[in-house]
Amino acid sequence: MLEDIRGISNPLFRALASGIFLSTVVTIPATAVLLLLNPKNESTHKLIVYAVIASAAVGTVSGLAAGKSKSTASETTENDAKNTEWKDWRKFVVDRKVKESDSITSFYLKPLDGGMIPNFIPGQFLTIQLDIPEQPKSVIRTYSLSDYSESSTYYRLSIKREPAPPETIAPAGIASNFMHDRINEGSIILAKPPAGKFVLDVNSSQPAVLISNGVGITPMISMAKATSLLNPQRHIWFLHGARDGSLHAFRDEVNAIAERNPNLHIAYCYSRPNLTDEGKYQHKGYADVDLIKNVVAPEMQSLCDSTDAQYFLCGSPSFMDSLRNGLREWNVPDNKVLFESFAKAKPKKVEPAEVPTQESTHEHDSMEIVFSKSGKTLNWSPADGTILEFAEANEIFPDHSCRVGVCGTCMCKISEGEVDYEETPTASVDRGSVLICISKPKTARVVLDI
Ligand SMILES: Cc1cc2nc3c(=O)[nH]c(=O)nc-3n(C[C@H](O)[C@H](O)[C@H](O)COP(=O)(O)OP(=O)(O)OC[C@H]3O[C@@H](n4cnc5c(N)ncnc54)[C@H](O)[C@@H]3O)c2cc1C
Repeated sequence: MLEDIRGISNPLFRALASGIFLSTVVTIPATAVLLLLNPKNESTHKLIVYAVIASAAVGTVSGLAAGKSKSTASETTENDAKNTEWKDWRKFVVDRKVKESDSITSFYLKPLDGGMIPNFIPGQFLTIQLDIPEQPKSVIRTYSLSDYSESSTYYRLSIKREPAPPETIAPAGIASNFMHDRINEGSIILAKPPAGKFVLDVNSSQPAVLISNGVGITPMISMAKATSLLNPQRHIWFLHGARDGSLHAFRDEVNAIAERNPNLHIAYCYSRPNLTDEGKYQHKGYADVDLIKNVVAPEMQSLCDSTDAQYFLCGSPSFMDSLRNGLREWNVPDNKVLFESFAKAKPKKVEPAEVPTQESTHEHDSMEIVFSKSGKTLNWSPADGTILEFAEANEIFPDHSCRVGVCGTCMCKISEGEVDYEETPTASVDRGSVLICISKPKTARVVLDI
């Protein structure tokens, strides 16, 4: 009955029905009891009247309140719907901060609005925005999601502190040091929804080899966890390289997944193990192609009757270069090798004979870039690098993050001309837009909405 009353959408009718219902429920037994005890007493009759009025009032108010709580529930549903449509920056609170190794710390993020968060495909990343007091503008960076569960209630980012490069006066990493030193439980940061195409299809049955070094382990944990949870029959090789045990994050966590999933095969490679690392690693040296040829391939052949696998690489630029070249030389087709760069490789020193001429790379002698919002028109030459580097050198500071065409933060509208990409962008690029972090002008004049 109460549920039926709560279901009445008109608040007046609901209050009326609730008032009548409660006054009836309270009054009938009260009248019976009072009349039995003292039927002729005038004050008994008055008491009955007061009971009717009071219960009708309580019923009416609770009828209205039921409507209020109903509308709160629908507001929540609306909020949830809004949250699943989350497209831009959203506030997250750091729920937990956990040290994983000497250089990596994890941050568990929950949405401040208390709404739902969408699940993600293992391997994807979050783009975060930090307001760092000393920085002239917000700092945007991307971090892989390093955990996985069937329905996310939090996101975990695991961030390596980037020290200043040795023997230079260059500063230490801005965002990573800020996160380590000044972001704590309760801090609030902004994040965009999970994105990225370096993803593992959990439903595939093809064996996968996940190879990482350093902080490149983060997307691999999410991939190993998701597969162990959703498709544990699939054989996965988890190869990870670290200098020694002190820098090896998530060892216990990955070991625990492997204990539950016999199809997750682990090989840890320490290049300079300490004495105390005995028993913590399987191979001394690097996680490289020789390890794949000599250890992984024979195991895979005996377990899967084939060595046809998908390879996922994430780590330092030199590690990835060496693996990609080694796999290609070993005749692994390029479409079987997926990789994600966290950092741009240092530009190769160009020998004089290799210096590209304007004629060999670009048709035009002078290329003009118009940065329309900044009101600057500037001449670009190949030595100026990417459009992003050129803009920064000229005191224009567009939003950007990865500098490798992965995150899409630097995407901007192009209203005239065309650009050449140094490499194919991984991020989706909207029609009429370009990524400036990996592109250079292709036409004599390029007009950008920056
Ligand atoms: C898709 C993707 C996923 C990622 N996932 C992760 C992850 O899971 N975990 C993680 O830790 N990182 C991850 N990264 C890297 C991360 O986004 C940041 O690039 C990283 O944290 C460094 O940012 P920073 O602000 O600390 O350093 P920055 O300030 O950007 O500096 C980068 C490096 O350059 C050095 N440097 C600064 N100025 C100079 C200069 N003038 N000359 C020479 N060197 C200089 C700094 O000391 C530092 O070592 C990911 C990147 C991408 C693209």
